[in-house]
Amino acid sequence: MHRGYDRSTARFAEAKKYLPGGVNSPVRAFKSVSMTPIFIDHGKGSKVYDVDGNEYIDYILSWGPLILGHCHPAVQTALRSAIEKGISFGVPTTIETDMAKLVCERVPSVEVVRMVNSGTEATMSALRLARGFTKRELIVKFIGSYHGSADSLLIKAGSGVAALGLPDSPGVPESVASKTIAVPYNDLESVKKVFAQFGEEIAAVIVEPVAGNMGVVPPVPGFLEGLRELTRTYGALLIFDEVMTGFRVDLHCAQGRFGVTPDLTTMGKVIGGGMPVGAYGGREEIMRQIAPDGPVYQAGTLSGNPLAMAAGFATLTEMGKPGMYEELERKASRLSEGLAANAKETGIPLAINRVGSMVGVFFTDQEVIDYETAKTSNVDRFRKYFRLMLEQGILLPPSQFEGMFLSTEHSDEDIERTIEAHLRALKQL
Ligand code: PMP
Repeated sequence: MHRGYDRSTARFAEAKKYLPGGVNSPVRAFKSVSMTPIFIDHGKGSKVYDVDGNEYIDYILSWGPLILGHCHPAVQTALRSAIEKGISFGVPTTIETDMAKLVCERVPSVEVVRMVNSGTEATMSALRLARGFTKRELIVKFIGSYHGSADSLLIKAGSGVAALGLPDSPGVPESVASKTIAVPYNDLESVKKVFAQFGEEIAAVIVEPVAGNMGVVPPVPGFLEGLRELTRTYGALLIFDEVMTGFRVDLHCAQGRFGVTPDLTTMGKVIGGGMPVGAYGGREEIMRQIAPDGPVYQAGTLSGNPLAMAAGFATLTEMGKPGMYEELERKASRLSEGLAANAKETGIPLAINRVGSMVGVFFTDQEVIDYETAKTSNVDRFRKYFRLMLEQGILLPPSQFEGMFLSTEHSDEDIERTIEAHLRALKQL
């Protein structure tokens, strides 16, 4: 029995006095589902508990990082022992090398890697590096893809920006925006045209190898391969933004799963196991351009922070055990099958996209392959659905344009409960 939202509502009223929109990141305000957000007290395994005492099966998982669920013993133990030694030094620690070595071993494109503190910092720095390395200025990105909130990338972005209806943001200088070209996702022909016109000026193409910020949209066969070929032909760099997909869709990231190797890769989320971590890495020749090896400047007081590295290293180590990704795949596959069966039973049109443990559910009868088709979703219906699920103890990402994530802690029972709740919700729509 759901206990309502009284305490969350009161906390939100107080938060709004001191924080823009009551939150530290826009999507947390639950605006696109037109309700006040729930405030979380604690989490354990696949569940979170709000301040009103409600329990939820969590499909947000901190927006992806918690692939091992909440309070995983391996992560908690690593963090505790790191705390005992001191929380930050600003001079080298051994775990930074351990972490870098592990990432280089796992990610096909990465020979050298730099740790930062967020996905935004990773993509922003990777763009600077790409521009510094190629001595070119233009960037190509895809409409509805989100790569963090840096100026160059806040152009036709997805995620919270899509939900809020702010395709561009005030404060991004026209001179910066004009250096970014946005084309439709999965549309290789458009990319070819852009290269035919501006090929010699393009520093990089940045792409989410599975788009995860317009809901979940897999790459169509040949799309990533085509980008690889085009960028190589024109001497531009291919950047895979694996902030969401990295160590989420495969032990070797999306590039391992799809067998396409970019020049640079940006990472975040799972790599930090819930601590603020990002990273960018790639071919040695390019990465050696970064200070202090080379002239491209990028730095961070807390980069490679020992607590952050400890949580990330423990998470990646745990995920390296046999069968971890296979189990996630099995459960996510059961979930999407169950949701599809419910859609069929109730006659409510649903497009369900899944890659590994990323699942996107759109209220539309169209196949979703890009931002245009994602936007055919019925957001009013999603709003009602979100609330109906919440009342049944299922916490979904509070926007039609965000994917669901599973953790290794989601049990078969959690999945079945979710499918049953989904059926009841669809019947009430
Ligand atoms: N790139 C992608 C693909 C992302 O999904 C996100 C965040 N959702 C980012 C970059 C930005 O990462 P952060 O929020 O850690 O800055």
